[in-house]
Amino acid sequence: MRYAIISDIHSNLEALTAVYNDIKKQAVEEILCLGDIVGYGPNPNECIEIVRAECSVVITGNHDYACLERSEVEHFNVFASQSIFWTIEVLSDLALIYLAELPFEKKVANFNLVHASPDNPSVWNYILTLDQAIYNFSYFDEQVCFVGHTHKPTIFVETEGKEYSRERKKHIKINKDERYLINVGSVGQPRDSNAAASYAIFDTDNMEYELRRVNYDFRKTQKKMMESNLPNFLIERLASGR
Ligand code: ZN
Repeated sequence: MRYAIISDIHSNLEALTAVYNDIKKQAVEEILCLGDIVGYGPNPNECIEIVRAECSVVITGNHDYACLERSEVEHFNVFASQSIFWTIEVLSDLALIYLAELPFEKKVANFNLVHASPDNPSVWNYILTLDQAIYNFSYFDEQVCFVGHTHKPTIFVETEGKEYSRERKKHIKINKDERYLINVGSVGQPRDSNAAASYAIFDTDNMEYELRRVNYDFRKTQKKMMESNLPNFLIERLASGR
């Protein structure tokens, strides 16, 4: 089976469309989504429409969840909370019902999907360091767990002898005596100093993983964000990928 895995779209329709056009050329059988469809960007309803139509498995992210559970916004910084209140105003009733149905975690074939971290998928911990990754390896049984949330593509590896490392390559072979915790990066708001949209291909026949980057017209997204009076900080970071 050949999967595309997308995450952290953040209401960025131009990035999502560019990624979807790239996915169509990759002979993928299913598209999986790790959440944060909305928040930050100007097109929440349109992005939900595409994800709902095209993805076979979708889980919730902290921004999706905050649209339903407003106490969650307390954990957000000022820019994130401003954009969530704007998002709640514009979301259609159907979009809200759809977000309310999304699970926190899902197993697909022999791998696991969670937005933030497998140790407790509803508290939205970040996995940024090797130590945080090591802690999380004991919280999933599958060989591979895919996460999003940090917007930074990363591959953490656990060997059979319980040694741990961070892999920098974009294309790896999944070895049968190793386990993996993989962050696929963000479609709509990358934060690894690369403004291009990020997503991944996972091929369970060949056991190969590939991170892909797709350029898109972020100026168009920025213009729409300005027209919607979304925070400048969020508008500017799309150009720098930081
Ligand atoms: Zn996010």
